[in-house]
Amino acid sequence: MLRRLYRGFVAALALALWLCSACLAAQEPANLEFGAEALLSGLWTPAELAGSDADRVIGPVGEPDASTPALASTAQSPPARQATPQAMQGAIRRVEPQTPSSPLAQARKPVAITFDLCERANNVAGYNNQIINLLRAAGAKATFFAGGKWMRSHPEAALQLMADPRFELGNHAWTHGNLALMTRSEIETQLHLTEVQYANLRAELTRRAEAKGLGAELARVPQTMPLIRLPYGRSSELALNTLAELGYVVIQWDVEGERDEGRQTADTLAQTALAQVRPGSIILLHANAVPEKSFAILQRLLPALLRQGYEPVTVSELLRLGRPQAVRQGYFTIPGDNLQYDAIFPGKGTLKPDPARPFTTVPVP
Ligand SMILES: [Zn+2]
Repeated sequence: MLRRLYRGFVAALALALWLCSACLAAQEPANLEFGAEALLSGLWTPAELAGSDADRVIGPVGEPDASTPALASTAQSPPARQATPQAMQGAIRRVEPQTPSSPLAQARKPVAITFDLCERANNVAGYNNQIINLLRAAGAKATFFAGGKWMRSHPEAALQLMADPRFELGNHAWTHGNLALMTRSEIETQLHLTEVQYANLRAELTRRAEAKGLGAELARVPQTMPLIRLPYGRSSELALNTLAELGYVVIQWDVEGERDEGRQTADTLAQTALAQVRPGSIILLHANAVPEKSFAILQRLLPALLRQGYEPVTVSELLRLGRPQAVRQGYFTIPGDNLQYDAIFPGKGTLKPDPARPFTTVPVP
């Protein structure tokens, strides 16, 4: 019994240390009202932050772009991380909140609202500025899982998300590779190129901030992206083990916001999501303007969550508030419900199906 308690204590300690060192190299802003937005307001005008309708325009499916980013001369190579602790391995679907004895802590209902920013080699996705504006207006925290190529196509939006103290960024692979189909080296390339793109953007953010005397603000912008979301929700044992070795924490969801959006109204989808949310839930939505109802769903869901006493937190914060519930397989709602994507998206998931070139199978990374 004692030994089990001791082992639990050691595991919890390892987890806490890992979270401090890897995930939370940057400190959480103590108070959003007092200067935490200095980077945002110092580097962009309100109009630039608000964006425009043009941000939501999606590019056509064109020739696959096989180019990859090189590390800029001003950027630091992404530092290596320690392997992911056992308790954080696998695909995390939600977090079981701890229930400390204080009534205040018991009343807390944390929820992580997450948005994917997917982009493949042969398309350019959008940036749903309305979603970001809504989150900012509500003071709601959120996590964005950004594709590396998406960050390269949308550098200003990516920089603004990095600079915003409400938000954190996670990795969503370079060109949306289906990790279940990839070799270890292909998986590593998908993740590494995304980290290189992030490092380049962070260097650019640093350059701009230092020019305005705001260099100290960069301390809370993490050096790497230790959180990852599996494209298509697809995984293999090889992928999960590789990700753990590389120090990634795989974040899936227990509430899928846009499920069957073609046949459901935003009202219904928001109601369904609300009925499924529990304290510690992770909600999946998209901010790349590809699903059509994401904003309308959030417009209904966010106020309803706030009315019910839910507190939107980032995924990193959620992980610190409880015990991760992880599984050994990525899926949407039930295991196996995403296998069809292996056949639908060629190039091991890196390509959008193109009617003009139905048999295209290149590129991978
Ligand atoms: Zn995606």
